[in-house]
Amino acid sequence: MSTGKINVAVENIFPLIKKFLYSDHEIFLRELISNATDATLKLKHLTNIGEASVEYGNPVIDVKIDKDAKTLSITDQGIGMTEEEVQKYINEVAFSGAEEFLDKYKDTAKDSGIIGHFGLGFYSAFMVARKVEIITKSYKDAPAVKWECDGSPEFTLSPAEKDVRGTEIILHIAEDSEEFLEENRISELLTKYNKFMPVPIKFGTKEETLPLPEDAPEDAEAETKTVDNIINNPDPAWTNQPTDLEEKDYKDFYRELYPMQFEEPLFHIHLNVDYPFNLTGILYFPRLGQDMNIQKDRIQLYQNQVFVTDNVEGIVPEFLTMLRGVIDSPDIPLNVSRSYLQADGAVKKISSYITRKVADKLKSLFNEDREDFEKKWNDIKVVIEYGMLSEDKFFDKADAFALYPTVDNTYYTFAELQEKIKENQTDKDGKLVVLYASNQDSQHQYIQAAKDKGYEVLLLDSPIVSHLLQKLETSKENLSFVRVDGDDINNLIKKDEEQISKLSDDEKESLKTLLEETINDKSYTVKLEAMDSNSAPFMITQPEFMRRMKEMQATGGGGMFGMGNMPDMYNLVVNTNSELVGEILNTKTKKKQERLITQSMDLARLSQGLLKGEALTNFVKRSYEMIK
Ligand code: ADP
Repeated sequence: MSTGKINVAVENIFPLIKKFLYSDHEIFLRELISNATDATLKLKHLTNIGEASVEYGNPVIDVKIDKDAKTLSITDQGIGMTEEEVQKYINEVAFSGAEEFLDKYKDTAKDSGIIGHFGLGFYSAFMVARKVEIITKSYKDAPAVKWECDGSPEFTLSPAEKDVRGTEIILHIAEDSEEFLEENRISELLTKYNKFMPVPIKFGTKEETLPLPEDAPEDAEAETKTVDNIINNPDPAWTNQPTDLEEKDYKDFYRELYPMQFEEPLFHIHLNVDYPFNLTGILYFPRLGQDMNIQKDRIQLYQNQVFVTDNVEGIVPEFLTMLRGVIDSPDIPLNVSRSYLQADGAVKKISSYITRKVADKLKSLFNEDREDFEKKWNDIKVVIEYGMLSEDKFFDKADAFALYPTVDNTYYTFAELQEKIKENQTDKDGKLVVLYASNQDSQHQYIQAAKDKGYEVLLLDSPIVSHLLQKLETSKENLSFVRVDGDDINNLIKKDEEQISKLSDDEKESLKTLLEETINDKSYTVKLEAMDSNSAPFMITQPEFMRRMKEMQATGGGGMFGMGNMPDMYNLVVNTNSELVGEILNTKTKKKQERLITQSMDLARLSQGLLKGEALTNFVKRSYEMIK
């Protein structure tokens, strides 16, 4: 037996390690299982290249709890270590690594910017153990050794009884960490971090029902057998080549990732690149609908099949965090703050690779089966529209597949839309005017009016649509979007159908004065328009610009602040060619005139959803009086 002093300057690393990453103690298990996996895969490699003359077999990593002894052990059948190797890798390398770590992160570890996952390695065991034992036997012909340490720099190294190759790490769990002696807790950790690690991990046993033989009588009871409880799938879908996988494999893997998710994903994107960085993974488009606030943090980040985090902020572009799936890349630096991460060259490349792959996939889905793509559009549009808004490269690519549906369910690409409306929908300056509605029901009257004039009306109802329109208008030339109830719609003049007002200038003048006096509300601007006599006599519109600015502010538009207190502004558009307006003008008594105006005004407000409270009560009461 020999004793020695671990080569570290700090007197006692145990309390120090404990102090750091306090909330993240649980990762010790991930680190130890990673070491066991590495040791196993190293042996596999050595046997493959003929450097180890031992049978590789079917190695399993065994995780065990002994509640009475208060220990948790991890046993592998990997390469093991000789006495010299323990000296070198555990005493010198591991602990000098610890010291370096403590030195480096003393000040920053508590910083919230740190992701909280370091390659802590072996010594992370001391976050939960008061004493750690290593019993190891190398694959080389050397005696087994036992190393023991209680967290002080003092360790002992002695001969051990162990016939089989591999390493057993025994943690004597500290009093304040006894949660790690609970089966449920360990089970939860194994599922969280190790579910897809490449070497089978055993945690206890389970009962398995055997299939009944073919000729079994009907009342025969199925037999059960005790088998190893293997908690992981060592060969998850994303580690395979896309050509080796079928649609079903992708769907099954989605189920495996999200067992509680009952809906099928709409489609998947297999990521697979090894130069200039290494990245594999599968992303899924779930059914998203209108909801922008769906649960993010559904993409899981792995490094070599070890779970790291489900917060991929900074690694995946923001708009894609609405997707699900896994990303596996050893090239993402994790011991840095998020802001540093975003500035990292490799991470930037990864992020733009993912964006490009997603755009390419969408384009090919669109090209291969447009009908199906149109069907999915409403469930994927928030991602695409958000992407167009936030990533310029994506915006450019999206031109090929972004769709603009009409209120009648025709789906145009932008180019198709442009072609369709270029004759009919331009304003006085020759600008293309795209009409849209944001709600079929509440804007029904306006949609109908626009359709009656032969205009195409889009249905754009995403919560961020006002931002997107702003972006489209600035990046495409000669284009403006106008909501069907926006005032600018009146600038859309169909040349052959220009209406001539039935009223003389004098009549118009007195009508306007009469209306303004009766309505007596500063937020309404009266506008007289000569329209088709069948069009509504009174119509309330809202200036496109003002309304959009307010919407953008409400949904978080950059730089749009300080507009919060702006009053709502409306136009009251009065159709001078309507019969009712003629009647208002020709009515002799002032009282009756006012009654007609008030009632018409209330109807116009009602159809814009603006009639509320006392005004609505009065309106209803008055209307009953009228029909009595
Ligand atoms: P890292 O894994 O990052 O190299 P660790 O501190 O976790 O750092 O481990 C230090 C070294 O100890 C490893 O590189 C390896 O050589 C050795 N080691 C740790 N665990 C095992 C094990 N289960 N079997 C064999 N060697 C191991």
